[in-house]
Amino acid sequence: MRKLLRRIFRFSLLALVIITGIIVIKTISYTSRQVDFSAITPVAINQEDVAQRLGQAITFPTISWTSSVDTSAFIKLDSYLIRSFPLVDSLLEHKKINQFSKVYKWSGRNARLSPILLTGHLDVVPVETADENEWEYPPFSGKIADQYIWGRGALDDKLAIVGILEAVEQLIKDGYAPERTVYLACGHDEETGGTYGAQAIATYFAQEDIHFEYVMDEGMLIVEDAVAGLSKTVAIIGIAEKGYATLTITAQVEEAGHSSMPPETTAVGLLSESLQRLSEHPFPADIDGALADFFDYVGPEMNLPYRALFANRWLTDPLIIAQLSKGKATNASIRTTIAPTMLRAGIKDNVLPSRASAKVNFRIKPGETVESVLNYVRTVIDDERIILSVSQETDVAEPTPISATDAFGFEVIQKTIQEIFPDVVVAPGLVIGATDGKYYQGVSENVYRFLPVKVTNDDLKRIHGTDERISLEGYEQVIQFYYQLLKNSCQ
Ligand SMILES: [Zn+2]
Repeated sequence: MRKLLRRIFRFSLLALVIITGIIVIKTISYTSRQVDFSAITPVAINQEDVAQRLGQAITFPTISWTSSVDTSAFIKLDSYLIRSFPLVDSLLEHKKINQFSKVYKWSGRNARLSPILLTGHLDVVPVETADENEWEYPPFSGKIADQYIWGRGALDDKLAIVGILEAVEQLIKDGYAPERTVYLACGHDEETGGTYGAQAIATYFAQEDIHFEYVMDEGMLIVEDAVAGLSKTVAIIGIAEKGYATLTITAQVEEAGHSSMPPETTAVGLLSESLQRLSEHPFPADIDGALADFFDYVGPEMNLPYRALFANRWLTDPLIIAQLSKGKATNASIRTTIAPTMLRAGIKDNVLPSRASAKVNFRIKPGETVESVLNYVRTVIDDERIILSVSQETDVAEPTPISATDAFGFEVIQKTIQEIFPDVVVAPGLVIGATDGKYYQGVSENVYRFLPVKVTNDDLKRIHGTDERISLEGYEQVIQFYYQLLKNSCQ
């Protein structure tokens, strides 16, 4: 007996030594994915002038309402941009798509190089009347005060459109002529799904047989204090986007009628049970694809206990997943999410309805599909009295493919980030919300989603929220980034 115990003890000790050895080796050999770069002097920008121009662009309320377009705001913004960037207007070919979206072409000298596309959107979300008074400065004032440019669109997404135009205008002024052709695309309905803007623009490119080396749209940003265990700020380049579908779940029963003698099963009761079952069975979580890539880039830059944790994901994944499940944003990045959003049943308080239905919104993780989500929900609910259908009233989008990190586009964006923001860590990542970027998958394998602006967690709440603003210095860096990206991409 003692012999056996001794043997077990020896074996456990040996296993412990081996596991510790592997952990140490993996941690030591966990090498950085950050690229070498030489320091550059970014192009000089007149902060005051560029701030005035962005502020002015914000004053045109190019709001995307679900049912209508404020045509005059878009027309006025367009003529304002033409006036403000005369060299872009005279030197680049341009074309309107569906009246308000616009495509520019800046022809390169070397026709053998595939073109690139920088894109953004002109429209903004509305401001609730009740919230208007909460703003420090009126949302469409474009006010410059306290070292910030204030207003709707300052972060989402007029800074990108106007910032790119500033960069191109400056490059032309500096006598720069690109080797590679550059396209710019400005969508006008991103906030309501992008059907008439980005989707139509992408269709136009496909018809013209234009294929891009890479596409860059808005999406992820440079976020301070984003990751526990990482003391540096992280710039995240979105390489994939979650899918989107809304299911209508309908409970149907034969017995309806007077509520004074209710049967055992009612439509409302049945629907509630189904929703309950769904909330008790979240989709399985995993760290793979774009999220695994994120940790491969961020992990080696982390402080020690965290570095060991991420270097040894073969052992620690369950621990990491349990931790990520606790936060709303982190949970959304590891699994398909389930959000019941609308309910419908009954016509009167004393009449039992025969049908009750709910709309449930799903954000689908890459690797799964609308079809697999439907099957999962069917298995979890497991009740023939429940009818499931994909709602056609809202958009349906499969998750996008994952763009490569070892491609020219990713590498040139990464290098440019490190040149303009030398103190940040660059990482690929998964975009949880929906952007116009998905429409361009058909015209490029390499679609990246990145806005070159440094923000805090507090700033993130201002996007679609109150007091949206960008600092004068932050906007200067936006223009310097686009200027440098164009040079790096088109030499
Ligand atoms: Zn946006």
